[in-house]
Amino acid sequence: MKLTCPNCKTIIATKDIKKVNTNSLFIENQCPSCQAWFCLNKTQTILKISGIFLLLITSLLNIFNIKAEYSLAFSVIGFIGIFVALIITFFGKYDAVKNKKSN
Ligand SMILES: [Zn+2]
Repeated sequence: MKLTCPNCKTIIATKDIKKVNTNSLFIENQCPSCQAWFCLNKTQTILKISGIFLLLITSLLNIFNIKAEYSLAFSVIGFIGIFVALIITFFGKYDAVKNKKSN
């Protein structure tokens, strides 16, 4: 897989990325050319986190019986949220995982 550094526009092969920061919320990769940190899967990560939060919030609303008349709707929304998060987790391209395998 080839990608372009958003900072210096150099085309980098993912195997050339030696440094990956998994400590931050978003998985960051360091450009081997200009040493800038960039994130590849920001959208995926945001979607995943919002999915989990959606489930969390709707579950809490149901547990505390807030707006009980909408509890079915909350369950459905929560289910969709965690479903999206799971799909991203299993099918999303996580380059950090790939890097670990190739090293
Ligand atoms: Zn760069």
